[in-house]
Parts: sequence; C-alpha cells; structure tokens
Amino acid sequence: MQSRTRTVSCLIDRYREYLPVEPGVEPVTLGEGSTPLVPSRVIGPELGLDLWLKVEGRNPTGSFKDRGMTVAVTRARSRGARAVVCASTGNTAASAAAYAARAGLTAVVLVPQGGVAQGKLAQAVAFGAEIWEVAGNFDHVLSLVRQAVEQAEGVALVNSVNPDRLAGQKTAVYEILDSFPGEPPASIVMPVGNAGNISAYGMGLEDYRQAGRCTDVPRLIGVQAEGAAPMLSGTPVLAPRTVASAIRIGNPASAALARQAVERTDGAFIAVPDEAILEAQRRLAAEEGIFVEPASASPVAALLEGARRRHAEGADPVIARAGGRVVCVLTGDGLKDPEAGARLGRPIVPFRGDPLALQRELARVAGGGGSG
Ligand SMILES: *Cc1c(COP(=O)(O)O)cnc(C)c1O
Repeated sequence: MQSRTRTVSCLIDRYREYLPVEPGVEPVTLGEGSTPLVPSRVIGPELGLDLWLKVEGRNPTGSFKDRGMTVAVTRARSRGARAVVCASTGNTAASAAAYAARAGLTAVVLVPQGGVAQGKLAQAVAFGAEIWEVAGNFDHVLSLVRQAVEQAEGVALVNSVNPDRLAGQKTAVYEILDSFPGEPPASIVMPVGNAGNISAYGMGLEDYRQAGRCTDVPRLIGVQAEGAAPMLSGTPVLAPRTVASAIRIGNPASAALARQAVERTDGAFIAVPDEAILEAQRRLAAEEGIFVEPASASPVAALLEGARRRHAEGADPVIARAGGRVVCVLTGDGLKDPEAGARLGRPIVPFRGDPLALQRELARVAGGGGSG
C-alpha cells in the first residue's frame, strides 16, 4: 500500500540522517517538532539578554516528550511490539498513550498516586491507555517498571531510558541551531527531572559539532527545583518535593549522561525555589503571552533568580554563565496543570451590571478616565 503524503511536520522525515530509524520504516507521527522559537518581549530586555523562548508545549500532546515518542513508538512497532509501557509523572503517559493510539498499539502507564497533574491524566484517559496508580513516588514506579519489562514479551519500555526516546529528543537542539545559522546561542537553559532531555541535548550538540554545523557549542544549563535537586547535591533525594510535578524526581535515570553533557559544554546545574518557579510562570503568561506548566517556567526562574541575587549579593552565577543570546526551553503547556494555572492571575468575579455599567468598567480598565 502506498502511504499517503504527509502534510504534517514529521521529525523522522526531517532528521532521519541523525535518527535510528531504518529506511523504509513508516513513521508513527502526529506532526511533532517545528515548535515556535519566540523572542522575549519583556523579561529578556529587562535582564539585558537576547532571550528566546522555545515553546515545546506546541507539540501534539503539549510537551517535548512527543519528539522522543515518535521515534520510540515507530521503532517499537517495527520490531513487532504489541504494547508500550512507561512510568510517568504525566507527560510521558500522555505522549505514549497518543502515539500508541496512532500506531494501533496498547499503552500501559504507571503513575505515582496523587503525583500527576489533571490535564495529563485526562489526556492519557482520553487516548485509551491502561492507567495504573502506584503508591510511592516516580523513582519507585520507574524502578518497578524497569524490573518487570526485562522479562515481558511484546512490550516496549518507552521511558527516556529507552535510547530511541533520547534520539528523538535531540531534534529540539537541531531546530534551535538551525534557527540561528552561524550565531548559536551562548546558553540553552532547561528543566531537569529524570535528566533524559538534557542528555539528549548534549548528544544533539555533539552531532552538529561533528557535522561541522556548530563550532561554538552553547552551554547547557540544567535547572532543578530546590526540593528535588539531586544533580546539585550529587546524591538521590528520597522524598523530592516541588510544585513542578514534571521534575519531582529524586533519582534521575540519566544522571551520568546529563553530568557529562553539562561538563562537555562548560555548563552548570542550578536549583530554584518553588516561589521563583511560580513567579516565572506568572510572568511568562502575563508578560509574554505564553502559558506553561510550572516545571517549564524553571529556566526563566533561574534567570530571574540570578538577577535578584546579583542585585542582593553582587554575584550572579546564572546570568554570568548564561550571557548574550540565551534560549530557555519551555517544555510543556500550561493547560497540562489547570490547577496551578488558575492560581496565577486574578480571581474570576461576577458581573451583573447593564451595558452602561459595563461601558464604565471597560473605560476604567482601558485607562480612559473611567473615574471621571
Ligand atoms: C519530562 C519533563 C521535564 C523533565 O525532562 P527530563 O528528561 O525528565 O529531565 C521537564 N518539563 C516537562 C514539562 C516534562 O514533561
């Protein structure tokens, strides 16, 4: 059967030379990648940075996980898997469930009880996944799944320990570098949870360096929440705590690879408090028009925290390292976590006036002298 022409952006078609997908294998695609890279309107100028925001929430299921999932599910299907399984704080579950549905496979997702944002669960449910809640945190759930999958026939593990996932996630770096031919950013700042994505970015940078497509390699700056910062402490955190559920991970599976990626690029790991994450999330929405989930605001929180510390203490490890052109990777959409989003802005208030009263109110908010 001849395949119908694809009109969607298909990462595997665009970057097949860098991906482990054999010729002739039909991609499982939903139009992932090619996400917007938006110049910051307020925050960048305020910090004296040429700041760009890579809006990964614009992927098919609302997070960068889709970049890895298209490759992982394509490969799983081509090798005869009938089901895919993952442990997830939510976004991997949503993505695995969608790509499995697209591929005609079954998805099984195991989630930490009470640890997943509403929007992500709704997606996994809608896509028809089997959803199993496990008492314990993400690290426990991942360890459970990894042990079980070793012996399971016809089942592919699609967590980021699967190298196909990391291969697909490298493509975000290609897109960033392709956007600035000859003038790569000085730094790429991104959240770190299980540490797969920053490892993938490290590999992507290495691909482009070897291909002669990038001589000045950007620094990779990984951001964690203070209550879940094993990359800074150097030891696993037994009870990770943060509002940012996507990075509420105490024992990152790709810690070693991530450390290597950061060292090779002369980058750094940084931890930010939850209040800074929520403030960055609010500002991204209110001042830049970009609504992200809490974890995704952490890179901007790191820049803002750095500026605050420079002001208070005269030292600023973050911006000093970030310097010049900076890309913040906004990993997931705000609709993923509606409860966190609803707390950001003004409360919803009733309005019961007539058209004239409404006119007065509108004039007031427009600053047109409504008080006169
Ligand atoms: C998965 C995820 C992260 C963390 O990525 P890792 O590869 O686990 O480090 C950050 N933000 C969002 C929105 C995610 O879904």
